[in-house]
Amino acid sequence: MSISAVNSTLVRESGYINGRWCQAASGATISVFNPANGDMLGRVPDMGVDDTKAAIDAASQALAAWSATGPKERARLLRNWFDLIIEHKEDLARLMTLEQGKPLFETRGEVLYGASYIEWYAEEAKRAYGKVFAAPTADKRALSIQQPIGVVAAITPWNFPNAMITRKLAPALAAGCTIVVKPSEETPFSALALMALAEQAGIPAGVINMITSSQAAAVGRVMTDDSRVRKLSFTGSTRVGKLLYGQSADTVKKLSLELGGNAPFIVFDDANLEAAVAGAVISKFRNAGQTCVCANRILVQDGIYDAFIARFKAEVEKFVVGNGLADNTTLGPVINRAAIEKISAMVDRAQSQGAELVVGGKPHPAGELFYSPTILAGVTQDMEIAQQEIFGPVAPVIRFNDDAEAIAIANNTPYGLAAYFYTESHSRIWKLAEALEYGMIGINEGILSNEIAPFGGVKESGLGREGSAEGLADYMETKYLCMGGI
Ligand code: ADP
Repeated sequence: MSISAVNSTLVRESGYINGRWCQAASGATISVFNPANGDMLGRVPDMGVDDTKAAIDAASQALAAWSATGPKERARLLRNWFDLIIEHKEDLARLMTLEQGKPLFETRGEVLYGASYIEWYAEEAKRAYGKVFAAPTADKRALSIQQPIGVVAAITPWNFPNAMITRKLAPALAAGCTIVVKPSEETPFSALALMALAEQAGIPAGVINMITSSQAAAVGRVMTDDSRVRKLSFTGSTRVGKLLYGQSADTVKKLSLELGGNAPFIVFDDANLEAAVAGAVISKFRNAGQTCVCANRILVQDGIYDAFIARFKAEVEKFVVGNGLADNTTLGPVINRAAIEKISAMVDRAQSQGAELVVGGKPHPAGELFYSPTILAGVTQDMEIAQQEIFGPVAPVIRFNDDAEAIAIANNTPYGLAAYFYTESHSRIWKLAEALEYGMIGINEGILSNEIAPFGGVKESGLGREGSAEGLADYMETKYLCMGGI
């Protein structure tokens, strides 16, 4: 199947500025490839500094009118957009599998997951409340109101080409902000398809602007330097997040940063083995291991260690590796050549440091960007593979003895995004949930993200939360009003 089989109104080879589909001022383009077979899918504009400035101008001009629309009207437009996404679910899923690689059952799931943020914030738009405080003296009254923060810039990654965009756009629009989005250069088509549906839904010109670009550093610099951009929302690597954090200092922007993780997945002796293995498989291998909340280190207690490895191996051997468009595929390719080289090298180094190969351990014959689902046992916490984010279908297993050791290993990282643990003990559930230094904890659960909950990390995994009422608050400012002479 090629891109021509996707509904043509969704396949856009243009950026979108001020309500118009447009090419780069320079005329340059980026080619987009299918990671499953290397086919070229099409070209999008390679926009640069001038285009980004034009997009910020448009967002800035549109701000006053958009923020003045009532929340009910913004909710109606978001709801229209949600309905259109659901109507085009299948085409959006196919387009995403073509450019990103993950199997269709996962891209279908992502379209629904991404849309759920739009539905949720369409509802939540109406629930931005102010406060009235007890004033300190009788002649004063004190209250606060919530206002949209202003123009927002968003930079998103390729691993969730739909949902990482809706998770930012939906609360920004609900709050009354306007936005300039730069999706990943690896997956611009999914972003542009969402843009086409937003336009069809009636979102006014200038409210959302989309810059496709391979010049990420230059585009990011324009966004951070412009004082009209009051907030930057970024999902991606910790390295780039730290760079943008620094660059935003001069204009003191509000920041949401959703960065890398090093998620521990802890299995205690008293765990339900079947549930723990199922959780480990989904948490580790979803999207070929390319999610920021993927289990990165699997910690298994002595008493259940051998049984866990045997059962985990049996489940991992069931993966069907191949092109995500085939109905039976359960594991697709990784995103690009750099990714496969990094993963291969990490597995080789882990083995040379003493890790034992249980299954996999090499590229997969399905194509150049496929890696066999892999388990490494006997890993220790000092090995590179236990310290760095793998972002591939490789599960390192570490053995531990007691709770204190598990907590110490789990917290021994600068990251703090997601952690998971499996136990049947209520006392251990509370103690672990409180002791783990992470923003999100899966307890007897391997999948934790949804629109109603605050998603985000602590330590070097980021700032701010996406989803829930907290996600809306992150796009608003509190203004305190003090009234005297009462
Ligand atoms: P990943 O490993 O997920 O590709 P990156 O942090 O490299 O993580 O990319 C996430 C997003 O950040 C992408 O849209 C990418 O183009 C963008 N990006 C990469 N480098 C920079 C930069 N220096 N400034 C701004 N954005 C950047």
